[in-house]
Amino acid sequence: METVTTFPKVEEFERARIRLDSLHLPYRVILPKPAYHLVGAPALVMEQEVRAVLCAKDSNEFVYSGWVDYMASQIQVPDITPPGYVEDVFGYASIMVLAPCIADSAKIRLIAHISGDMAEVFPYLNSDMPQVCYNRNVSIVTFMDGHRMVVLYPRRIAVAKADDIIDGWRTLEMIRCLINDIWTRRSSIEPSYQMRKKPPALEIYKRLPGTNCKACGEKSCMLFALQLWQGQKVPSLCKPVFEGNFVHLKDALLEICAGLGVLESASEANRI
Ligand code: SF4
Repeated sequence: METVTTFPKVEEFERARIRLDSLHLPYRVILPKPAYHLVGAPALVMEQEVRAVLCAKDSNEFVYSGWVDYMASQIQVPDITPPGYVEDVFGYASIMVLAPCIADSAKIRLIAHISGDMAEVFPYLNSDMPQVCYNRNVSIVTFMDGHRMVVLYPRRIAVAKADDIIDGWRTLEMIRCLINDIWTRRSSIEPSYQMRKKPPALEIYKRLPGTNCKACGEKSCMLFALQLWQGQKVPSLCKPVFEGNFVHLKDALLEICAGLGVLESASEANRI
């Protein structure tokens, strides 16, 4: 089984490649250049056994962000130079976490840190894009990019249900351009601080017991709802709903999760 491993910085990728070469181990490289080089470092494709040798515990020569099963991408990195911005509030992105989606193992999730700060852009983004949900109290913007779930924090981005690493880079580059475009046009946009759209997580929360019993491993039902929405947990971890006194909520919870794309389909919901 081939795997793909990503790195937060080009320097870490280079260190890993040097180690592979010194061990005479086979690998392939996926480059984010040219279009996505501001949001990703090169990734390594290698057999699972090779990755295990490379990332052995006694090796601390490099830092990697994570690995997932390799899937051939349906898209290619465009042969274009990414646009530059006079006032670049995004900067560049470093992927710090790469892992499979727990709710959909055929997809990937990633967390990227950015060198800029998006907080001041959020009210303009909220005004310009009616489909986003902006919570000014915690400075978070959530929205769907097709079937992908995107959560923006001032200096961090979480993407769930991306198809593969190239799709992940594409999503990050789309966000980089979106944020900088909005910031460039801000003099013509009336900022909005209203939460004009309910976060989907709130709809999930409404179908949980609300007892904050912590059986799912989260401190509250709301935190569990957020984890569900981001594809990092599965509904069946809520034991009171699946095995306990709140089983009457089960169908409604599965229905909303499937409807929001947290589960792939009602039939998948039935398998849980
Ligand atoms: S296990 Fe279920 S009921 Fe208990 S806190 Fe978590 S979400 Fe709420």
